[in-house]
Amino acid sequence: MAALMNPKWNGQFSCFDLVAKTDERHRSVVQVRDIEIGGSDFVVMAGPCAVESETQLLQTAEAVAAAGARVLRGGAYKPRSSPYAFQGLGVEGLKILRKAREETGLAIITEVMSEEDVDVIAEYADIMQVGTRSMENYALLEALGKCERPVLLKRGMTATLEELLRSAQIIAMAGNSQIILCERGIRTFETATRNTLDIAAVPVLKAVSHLPVIVDPSHAAGVRSLVPVLSRAAAVVGADGLLVEVHPAPEKAMSDGDQSLDFAEFRRMMTDLQPYIELQQESRQLRPQLLVAGGTD
Ligand code: PEP
Ligand code: MN
Repeated sequence: MAALMNPKWNGQFSCFDLVAKTDERHRSVVQVRDIEIGGSDFVVMAGPCAVESETQLLQTAEAVAAAGARVLRGGAYKPRSSPYAFQGLGVEGLKILRKAREETGLAIITEVMSEEDVDVIAEYADIMQVGTRSMENYALLEALGKCERPVLLKRGMTATLEELLRSAQIIAMAGNSQIILCERGIRTFETATRNTLDIAAVPVLKAVSHLPVIVDPSHAAGVRSLVPVLSRAAAVVGADGLLVEVHPAPEKAMSDGDQSLDFAEFRRMMTDLQPYIELQQESRQLRPQLLVAGGTD
């Protein structure tokens, strides 16, 4: 039997017993409708930063579905850095997301910022997104423990991996073990990118936790030109999927336009990604240790 994890991390993470990898629990799959996240498929979630209108969302849904995405993203409740920025359409946005699911069959992921909104968002969403600013909102995490929906937990922009797993443990202790971890870039001294994508976080998390791990290259990069190459990097290091911002006209987007891909760019990115996904799938079957730090799986 291979060692559970690199000895460097023994103890540091194993205290989070519901989310830590063990001999018995090696890898968990989060089921979202007919989609398995953390299984053999590489699952791409794509869509606009914010739901702006029915036309914008339905057009995007069709384009990302045709390019191979399985999940549609779109914020209806937006955490904005400025109080003057667009705050999202709220329930109207959720209704538009539901319509897009009916028309395309895509599953829906959308952000929840407050425990008060959990019930209404759970009526519409297939996956509840916890944003970077909310990773340590314990009231929210506990409420999500009681909702019967998978949760995508983004890493706080100044959070260590230990703190990320602590938040995951809180959700699991409150009753919900359907958790997907998301690396979305952290704050460092670097200013050329919006955040610094901590690519090593993926194999570390895969070594110490059984939960699926996905990468959000858009918020890490802050510029669209970096999104395809960071997505390929995510596939190579063994991520289970991506969360990518796509907009019909990024220059007109109400939020995060600089980092959003247009439809043609997203299509090209998905095509160029394919060999890297195949490489990951072959590695998983033949030499799984290539995809986790410490050579264990
Ligand atoms: C988003 O996904 O649009 C978002 C606000 O992301 P983050 O919480 O990572 O900043
Ligand atoms: Mn965004």
